[in-house]
Amino acid sequence: DRVVSSDANDQELFLELSLRPQTLSQYIGQEKVKQNLAVFIEAAKQRNETLDHVLLYGPPGLGKTTLAMVIANEMGVNIRTTSGPAIERPGDLAAVLTALEPGEVLFIDEIHRLPKSIEEVLYPAMEDFCLDIVIGKGPSARSIRLDLPPFTLIGATTRAGAISAPLRDRFGVLSRLEFYTQAQLTHIAMRTADILQTQIERTGAEEIARRSRGTPRIANRLLRRVRDFAQVKGDGIITQELANYALQLLQVDKLGLDHIDHKLLKAIIERFKGGPVGLETIAASIGEEAETIEDVYEPYLMQIGFLQRTPRGRIVTNLVYHHFNMEVPGK
Ligand code: ATP
Repeated sequence: DRVVSSDANDQELFLELSLRPQTLSQYIGQEKVKQNLAVFIEAAKQRNETLDHVLLYGPPGLGKTTLAMVIANEMGVNIRTTSGPAIERPGDLAAVLTALEPGEVLFIDEIHRLPKSIEEVLYPAMEDFCLDIVIGKGPSARSIRLDLPPFTLIGATTRAGAISAPLRDRFGVLSRLEFYTQAQLTHIAMRTADILQTQIERTGAEEIARRSRGTPRIANRLLRRVRDFAQVKGDGIITQELANYALQLLQVDKLGLDHIDHKLLKAIIERFKGGPVGLETIAASIGEEAETIEDVYEPYLMQIGFLQRTPRGRIVTNLVYHHFNMEVPGK
């Protein structure tokens, strides 16, 4: 288990419920996205209409599910949650849609994983709030149209590029979530410590923030692990020194990189002379799925300027050599 994984484990899914901000004002960061949403929500409420469909995209753990819940809460409506892989047949989607009450939010996580045949059921549902259902087979088959209550679809995806154009075009609001800044993550760590009734010094929160890969979920996880060390090895207070000590033991380096990032970067340096090297080749050489590398590891490594994507493949930058105290080749 990676301590800096951006995916939640089962225990965390439960814990995260209590840490989730409920309103836009409690939701830290993503200022542009929040500003726009606040206007759209206000306008929809004034007109007594449902909010336009919203597509949220960005790397895992940046708060897409949380934001969907905040939106429903700000609209004063209920939210129902499902995910792309959970919907296997058109009938599954029809069942979800017909169970909606007027005005409700339907949240579909990993919406890029909906099969094409099911996506097509969504088009009329999103556009005209109706379902076209085919009953019977062969020459006696006929299509009937079912009216649905007006609703808001909120889709979340880590890969906006994997969403088909017709589906993307049916969202009125497209919001891209960005990695969080150090200051925002510090704020999140302090807020979480407060909810967990843990004492934390600002410099302790900053140390955690620096190693959280721009991701609130990781900040919250590191905070909980550091809290354990503070309780057992210290006097319960999270200081910078304690955070530094604990995170070193957890093998999370100064930039939040762990052994998998190290393995990936070192493989490119040692086996492929720093690149360019294709994604599939890297994946095979370190025994990880190409999709995982692309969705989970790479976005942060690119964000901090360690990795670049070129038409001929991935290359590591000089920053990586400096980070590992290695000599930059060709000098
Ligand atoms: P995934 O894409 O894996 O579903 P996600 O992007 O939906 O992840 P969330 O589950 O919404 O991520 O967020 C993870 C946790 O991070 C939440 O429990 C919440 O406590 C915290 N969090 C996320 N965004 C914020 C924020 N803006 N302010 C405070 N806490 C946040």
